[in-house]
Amino acid sequence: MKALRRFTVRAHIPERLAALGPLSTNLRWSWHPETQDLFSRLDPELWQAVQFDPVRMLGEVNPTRLDELSSDEAFLGDLDTAAADLDAYLSTPRWYQSQQAKGTSLAGGIAYFSMEFGVSEVLPNYSGGLGILAGDHLKAASDLGLPLIGVGLLYRSGYFRQSLTADGWQAEHYPPHDPQGLPLRLLTDAGPTSDDGSPVVIHVAMPGGRVLRARVWIAQVGRVPLLLLDSDISENDADLRGVTDRLYGGDQDHRIKQEILAGIGGVRAVRAYTAAYGLPDPEVFHMNEGHAGFLGIERIRELVTTSGLDFDSALAAVRAGTVFTTHTPVPAGIDRFPADLVRHYFGGANGENESSLLPGLTVDRIVGMGRESDPSIFNMAHMGLRLGQRANGVSKLHGIVSRDMFNGLWPGFDADEVPIGSVTNGVHAPTWAAPEWMDVARRIVGQEQLEEARGWERLHELSATELWETRNALRGKLVDEVRRRVRASWLERGATEAELGWTTGVFDPNVLTVGFARRVPTYKRLTLMLRDPERLRAMLLDEKRPVQLVVAGKSHPADDGGKALIQQVVRFADEADVRHRIVFLPDYDMSMARYLYWGCDVWLNNPLRPLEACGTSGMKSALNGGLNLSIRDGWWDEMYDGENGWAIPTADGVLDDVRRDDLEASALYELLEHAVLPTFYDRDAADLPTRWVERVRHTLENLGPKVLASRMVRDYAVDYYAPSAESARAVVADDFAGAREVAEFRRRIESQWPSVAVEQVDGSGLPDTPEIGATISLRAKVRLGGLSVSDVQVQAVLGRVSPGEELTDVVTFPMTHFGAEDGTEIFEAEVALPVSGSVGYTVRVLPHHRLLVDASELGLVTTPSV
Ligand SMILES: *Cc1c(COP(=O)(O)O)cnc(C)c1O
Repeated sequence: MKALRRFTVRAHIPERLAALGPLSTNLRWSWHPETQDLFSRLDPELWQAVQFDPVRMLGEVNPTRLDELSSDEAFLGDLDTAAADLDAYLSTPRWYQSQQAKGTSLAGGIAYFSMEFGVSEVLPNYSGGLGILAGDHLKAASDLGLPLIGVGLLYRSGYFRQSLTADGWQAEHYPPHDPQGLPLRLLTDAGPTSDDGSPVVIHVAMPGGRVLRARVWIAQVGRVPLLLLDSDISENDADLRGVTDRLYGGDQDHRIKQEILAGIGGVRAVRAYTAAYGLPDPEVFHMNEGHAGFLGIERIRELVTTSGLDFDSALAAVRAGTVFTTHTPVPAGIDRFPADLVRHYFGGANGENESSLLPGLTVDRIVGMGRESDPSIFNMAHMGLRLGQRANGVSKLHGIVSRDMFNGLWPGFDADEVPIGSVTNGVHAPTWAAPEWMDVARRIVGQEQLEEARGWERLHELSATELWETRNALRGKLVDEVRRRVRASWLERGATEAELGWTTGVFDPNVLTVGFARRVPTYKRLTLMLRDPERLRAMLLDEKRPVQLVVAGKSHPADDGGKALIQQVVRFADEADVRHRIVFLPDYDMSMARYLYWGCDVWLNNPLRPLEACGTSGMKSALNGGLNLSIRDGWWDEMYDGENGWAIPTADGVLDDVRRDDLEASALYELLEHAVLPTFYDRDAADLPTRWVERVRHTLENLGPKVLASRMVRDYAVDYYAPSAESARAVVADDFAGAREVAEFRRRIESQWPSVAVEQVDGSGLPDTPEIGATISLRAKVRLGGLSVSDVQVQAVLGRVSPGEELTDVVTFPMTHFGAEDGTEIFEAEVALPVSGSVGYTVRVLPHHRLLVDASELGLVTTPSV
């Protein structure tokens, strides 16, 4: 008989072991091996069976075993130590507090919104890189002491679980999760003070007078609360209960409901949380990708209805305190909805212009926030850029690509002036580094430093032997895990135990191990390595210098093309002559990924440049001394230094895809055959691959500090959150005087801008054959229409001139107001020639206001008409 519904009953924990409760529900255990050890000691076999999940462990452990441990002095001692350690972790001032103590102005609170969060495999609320990144962001924020709140949805089935059919086709499963069995607690109106508050229920209006309701679960990620909205409650209509059923499942209609709940419901959840916990409201709202962008519209509604602001002033206030991070370098990857669908959900009854979802706002203004050149489309990234005064991409290269991609929103500006910066992603070392490395790091660096993941680079101080032994041990662990998973996968595909004797010989702990694991969209080119199957086969089977390859990845359920690529790899890996050297492991998730990052010697990545925004798996490998073998895309483009791995040359500019794949695949084989394999198998008298170990050492030293999530979160805290909080304070003060001023300024500028003109520019004072550094006097006559001199900034722009008269490598200089003449304003500057060669100049006028961050912010600029 099948159960109709499943729920979880938590065991009674003896009083003396009560500390196990908080140790199991605070997800800090997931990056604290000592706490994991403690749970494993409850029952080592059961610990495996419950897949290293402390909450399940406490639910299933035999009560007599708990009674026994209540009087086990050694266990109690370690339990008390772990409990005290968690308390200290939660209460001691950390980096953020020490900065504040030094007088650094930082954001008073940050709300971080994301559609997925990959904190731990026990909370499978993620599909891939974006979610894992969000999880690492929360953990590093916790380690550093940021006052940050995470906000997202709790999916009943998370993302799908992957298995393979007998012929290698991806099959998807959606096992439901009972929130009661997860490390979650309900948000109640009583907050932390009492156990008997009533659960908070968030309401969001739906068309036809219906209401979507959600309760709010809190996952505690160290010091950081993660609020997860859950629509699966009996108060909802049956169809609305399913809003949070799956991550990235369903059609556009399903998805917009999810995004409305995440954005609008998410803000309401934050308000309920801060009210119940007596905390100040966050000053900064960070959108991790555009999915939760409706959060900005909800905050506009709050200001319009409770503070009496008009839409534009509210928008100015919201913009100041919003940071938007874009994650996709491809227009096709951007989240867009039919504008009519947005109208349907936000629209008034009977086509009125007042929104029924957000009363006080008009539907036209809401739809306008996501407009793009095609008026029938609503673009979530454009909304993110309009709602966030600060925006960034996730690697330097992705910053460049994003400035180019969104240039259309700032017409008249060169791509490099588009106000989108970059913060390169990072990974959480205590989560992703093998316990073996953590142990040596603790020895060398010390626990306290390590908690904020400082000093990681000092691992390079280890002796060559110790480095190599650690690498060997980790490869050995991976080999065991590969064998276990290959076996399980074959059993699932219908094989019998008797046929699987060969699986004990899968992989060899002494063979160079290459990993390739990631989602399977086309641009990541899962099958590039199979471009020349015979060449690959020869490398796998080489007698002296073989390579072994572990591959994993999920294809989106609707992407049959991706599934065909997986099948191609599986079929190759099934062949009897190579199956001991190449494996495809189904169900790539955090629990598997860990072994791959620990154990692989080489991490392979071959996306179509520049379509990988950042990529983080290679960073996790590097933290464990893995060497990257990658196309120079995303993070690798800025961090490859010639010694820390290998760059696969790209055939950028070759437009024929087939030829490009051929060229890049062949470059990949070349590198493996002539650089990677020889270095790995070149041994000294003591069988030590000295050149390889030096590269490992260099990787730990050079990449260690750069790839950390703590570096990333500090970058956000200092370069984005702090200035954003300053801006927010500046516009909110004196009953939003600044916000009203910005809105008024913007209205005036936008209406007057058409009459702004540069009428005449004269340059003088140059010698006949000027040298670089010679000064030139520039004088411009500018007509300002109804604007005053203080509303604008006039700039001289100098640079090289291309044959098409385009200025490149430009340098700008402010010009000073000199006086008025015939109804025009005169501006002057003395500037030194910044470049040699064919040089040109022009003058331009930009809006100027002290509360704008960037001169290009309003997308307005006037140059002389030629
Ligand atoms: C790190 C990670 C990813 C993302 O890796 P990319 O290099 O960005 O593709 C995806 N899935 C899991 C389980 C991960 O740990």
